[in-house]
Amino acid sequence: MHVQLRCDCDIRPPPPAATMTTLRPQAPASGCLRCPCSLPPSRPGFTLVELLVVIAIIGTLVGLLIPAVQSARAAARRIQCASNMRQVGIGILNFADTHQGRWPDTTHTVEPDPVTGEFTRAWIYSVAPFIESVDAIRICPDDKLATQRLAARMTSYTLNGWLSSEARPSFDRMRTITEKTKSILAFELSEKKGFDDPYADHVHSFDWFTTTRKNRGLVFQGVANEVAVGRHLRSAHYLYADGHIESIAEEEIARLCAPPWQEPEFSRPR
Ligand SMILES: [Zn+2]
Ligand SMILES: [Zn+2]
Repeated sequence: MHVQLRCDCDIRPPPPAATMTTLRPQAPASGCLRCPCSLPPSRPGFTLVELLVVIAIIGTLVGLLIPAVQSARAAARRIQCASNMRQVGIGILNFADTHQGRWPDTTHTVEPDPVTGEFTRAWIYSVAPFIESVDAIRICPDDKLATQRLAARMTSYTLNGWLSSEARPSFDRMRTITEKTKSILAFELSEKKGFDDPYADHVHSFDWFTTTRKNRGLVFQGVANEVAVGRHLRSAHYLYADGHIESIAEEEIARLCAPPWQEPEFSRPR
């Protein structure tokens, strides 16, 4: 009578060498992984200290990596915003070219809705026909109200009020601006203005540098209430009348909003 010896753990020894047609994975050459009959010599494990050192090293590497990834993402958002604003600028300039040099109307200068009587049409929709996809570029990726502004048909980019007929003097015609490289067309709109105020499609920049505000030291506060001066790593983008974009640090804007006053002040076209 023939008795076959079996391993207790029920794991079979390795099968015969694979044939050319066998595609299944091979069992380890040492056979049973659990029973003493064929176990390879056991390997020493990590000590607690070694484990803690490895965890500490991984933690340090992750700690170094996360800020690098975050700053790369912030840089990408900043570039996207500048690109958006550049396309907005092309839209505004093309609009002006086809409207006898007039800038688009703001919600304060356009005709109100004939039914509701409200001024609801932001200027961005006047220039939309001159932009490939206005919804793709009207929101800054670092705007904390991006989703709400997108849904409310508003924009993160707000027109310089000096370009509207509200201003005195008004720069509502392209020909009134002689230094296009120094004249701002649009700013980044501050979150302080909310997302559903249709009048926030432009800023009352002509009120920023009044004598009263200068005397009370309130100029910068007035600007920062309307413009997101620190949106991108304590700086923001500014669209100029020649179509170029500048990134200006918040401190620089604060400096321009304090004595000695620059003439003309930075937001006023020239
Ligand atoms: Zn207005
Ligand atoms: Zn932006």
